[in-house]
Amino acid sequence: MTPSKLTGKLTVLLVASVIGLGLGGCEKPPVKTNGTGTPHPTPRGTIRVLLSKTPTGSASLAGSVGVRIVANGKLVRPGRSIRSIRRSGGAWIVGNSSLRANRLVVETIDSQPNKHVGFSGKTYHGKLVLTPRGPNAFIVVNHVNLDDYLAGVLAKELFGSWHVEAYRGLAVAARTFAYYNMMHSGSSGYYDLEDGVKSQVYGGIMGETTKSRQAVNSTRGWVLTANYRGKDRIFMPQYSSCCGGHVNAAIVLRDAPPIKPLQGGQADQHCTASSKYRWAPVRISKSELFRLLCGNHSQVRALGGLRTIQVAQKLAHGRAVWVNLIGVNGKTVRLRAEKIRLAMIFSSTPRYKKLYSMNCQIVDTGSGFEFRNGRGYGHGVGMCQYGLQGKALAGWRAEQIIGFYYPGAKIVKLY
Ligand SMILES: [Zn+2]
Repeated sequence: MTPSKLTGKLTVLLVASVIGLGLGGCEKPPVKTNGTGTPHPTPRGTIRVLLSKTPTGSASLAGSVGVRIVANGKLVRPGRSIRSIRRSGGAWIVGNSSLRANRLVVETIDSQPNKHVGFSGKTYHGKLVLTPRGPNAFIVVNHVNLDDYLAGVLAKELFGSWHVEAYRGLAVAARTFAYYNMMHSGSSGYYDLEDGVKSQVYGGIMGETTKSRQAVNSTRGWVLTANYRGKDRIFMPQYSSCCGGHVNAAIVLRDAPPIKPLQGGQADQHCTASSKYRWAPVRISKSELFRLLCGNHSQVRALGGLRTIQVAQKLAHGRAVWVNLIGVNGKTVRLRAEKIRLAMIFSSTPRYKKLYSMNCQIVDTGSGFEFRNGRGYGHGVGMCQYGLQGKALAGWRAEQIIGFYYPGAKIVKLY
């Protein structure tokens, strides 16, 4: 597979016509603004990445080089060293000054060499936008060129020793993932993605390597589209660590439109190097699983306790898609099998975090459940990162690997 060559007017036409295709089953119109009411300057645009996991009361800007602060469009402290910003009583505290503004922007000065912004011990391209969350807290969002962002993602998502073709393959998937989120974040949101595992792990400038930059440059502008209802549309290309030998369909995660690239079912022979390709049984008592599920899904409480779990729908290779939770009172609640894994891995119990995937058998042991014959790590939908590396080592080109994990997808050059 080679990217369609689209230049000039054609590219603009394509950008104007692409309608992103998510896994949520509903179409949304293309977003025409960057969330601040102004059009994206180029198709590539600027992505907005949330850096603060929770609203914070102060931000360390240590590591910033050649920056200035702008409040409501006006320069606050030009040319002076700024180490931190606080928010208190509805005001921003910058050094010894207190000021009121809708938001603060920490941006680099064009004329400064080696300029970058610093936040919480890391450095970033682009600028930081600080937006209030109440009188004493704010969020920090990095507005950054999409390709600079991707260079800081790839080396965090893949090992440094991995093959450059693996990097190139993920560059296309990660760019499409990012672009899809940019299109769908809407004008009311303040960011498109988070910087951690919920989105894509992003390390800023410190996360970049020569290899990650090479992979981004050599796939410049490439994104994936799928045909849906007669149109080529950018879709959300999921990827995960290790599929365990079979690529899962997107329906294991959510109601997915029936597009070919995410239907799964491919037998993957190249991800055996993952330490999670096969994993040991994980056990949990019925009462404990009931408690964890109730915490995330209030409808489960109606069961009064868990009697057993039955697989209600599975994929051809045996992976559960839906399960019926049978209550001690005889009632039934239908739940996506993936929700069991999420409830367990986000609990505080270390041994539950070893439920690496739902590619396993769910066995009722009487007092509890055993997740047996476990294979793979993550949801297993779309690209498998260990398989990506395995195929690159076996001599596959990135374009071939993408064709395997997203069959029927087109690579389109957006810029
Ligand atoms: Zn795999």
